[in-house]
Amino acid sequence: MPTVAEKDTVKTIRTHYIDGAFVESHGREVMDVIKPTNGKVIGRVTLGDEEDTRHAIAAAKYAFASFSRTAKEERLRYLRQLHEAVSARIDDLTAIMVEEYGGVVRFARLIVESGVTAFAAAEKGLQELPLRQSWGKTTVTLEPVGVAGLITAWNANALFICLKLASAVAAGCTVVLKPSEMSSLQTRVMVEALNAAELPKGVFNVVTGLGTVVGAELVRNPDVAKISFTGSVAVGEAIMRDGAATMKRVTLELGGKSPTIVLDDAALDKAIPSALILAFLNSGQACAAGTRLLAPKSRLDEVKRAIQEGMRAYTVGDPADPNIMVGPMVSQKQYERVESYIRKGIEEGAEVLVGGEGRPKGLEAGYFVKPTVFVNVKNDMTIAQEEIFGPVLSVIAYDSEDEAIRIANDSKYGLHSAVMGTDLDRARRVASQLRAGRVVINNMTDDPQAPWGGFKYSGVGREYGKYGIEAFLEPKAILE
Ligand code: NAD
Repeated sequence: MPTVAEKDTVKTIRTHYIDGAFVESHGREVMDVIKPTNGKVIGRVTLGDEEDTRHAIAAAKYAFASFSRTAKEERLRYLRQLHEAVSARIDDLTAIMVEEYGGVVRFARLIVESGVTAFAAAEKGLQELPLRQSWGKTTVTLEPVGVAGLITAWNANALFICLKLASAVAAGCTVVLKPSEMSSLQTRVMVEALNAAELPKGVFNVVTGLGTVVGAELVRNPDVAKISFTGSVAVGEAIMRDGAATMKRVTLELGGKSPTIVLDDAALDKAIPSALILAFLNSGQACAAGTRLLAPKSRLDEVKRAIQEGMRAYTVGDPADPNIMVGPMVSQKQYERVESYIRKGIEEGAEVLVGGEGRPKGLEAGYFVKPTVFVNVKNDMTIAQEEIFGPVLSVIAYDSEDEAIRIANDSKYGLHSAVMGTDLDRARRVASQLRAGRVVINNMTDDPQAPWGGFKYSGVGREYGKYGIEAFLEPKAILE
């Protein structure tokens, strides 16, 4: 039971959102929501079970019959309504992301705004996507694939929900969304916002619960045609394997170990700050984080000095403070995971240039780690191969451009990459040889119409813009 003092601040969530209404959970298990800056309980959420999930799937299946037949114009209108409704809650969504997840406020706002943008981007993508094409006596239409299960990770809750929902709605699919159980407070604010968009009942349904319960039911249920998932490789593999029994279509957005190649003609005063932004995105808890910095041996000392200089900006502390660049890790488990990798890096012989083990001084209560940069890293070390999902950067030296490309591609992952250099033609040539779903040149930048997704273990399929919508469509040919 909450103490009296807790009662004022502990938020309680006992409902799911099914068929256009907040309904009491059938599942009875209760999970605490812990604030990562101080380890205190700030919420209690009742987790859904298989029955809640089946209830939501049934609502989505019923709604699919009419929603799948809506005209493009109608879906464009729904996307505009969603855009408007979520735009109205940007401040609330940012605040709850900072509180529940510990995202630094400047980045949390960006994530929420990117979520809002996803609806506008889907609107544009849908406008440009021909859903019907004919030639001779053949007509090809792109039809919504069916009820979709959307399963998301905890590190950018608002963005993932909006992105997946926008694409599904654009395609004419109805959905059951299972957000990370660690994002329940954020999800509640988001569902309130989505509810205000007044979509037809049953088009989107949200069940909060564990992956092994709610997520697994979505994956196994024959009434769900498609799973769009963002999360770890291990769970992605399970979804592909278990979904095969009901021939699920899958989009899997998984992990990364993204390289940033600093070419030897790069202007380091710009390239290194950009590389650090990429490395410490979302306190390092970002799938796209550029956690391997490939530096030319000929300029290694300069690179190290520029990193030391640049890292002074990476202050750690209260994520609500707009001057703070790195917040806490999301949980005790994530804190321990990051610390274990820092220890492993030291054991394997990498040298700590900045940061190191343990909590930063004065931040002993929360899940704070020191933003850490390792040098003398070899690409076969654990810290260069495995996704840490925390603020840990590995600097790897290379001799030639070819070697840089080889090291960059020597990874099981292929989600995101960056190339920094002054000669743009050369930077483009290097970019064209990287095995990654996205490569940015000279800066972290985004285009919501450009596809997002990974090569190799970084996933299957793409999101964003028309690519994201196509992932919820099935081509059908009618021949006379
Ligand atoms: P996770 O795989 O542990 O959980 C993701 C979601 O899957 C959660 O909602 C969880 O409840 C659910 N889940 C767990 N077991 C399940 C099961 N058996 N069946 C169905 N669903 C299940 O990942 P996480 O720790 O929440 O997120 C971190 C990971 O996500 C990192 O690897 C990161 O790289 C990845 N990620 C990828 C992208 C991308 O766009 N590629 C974006 C963000 C995060």
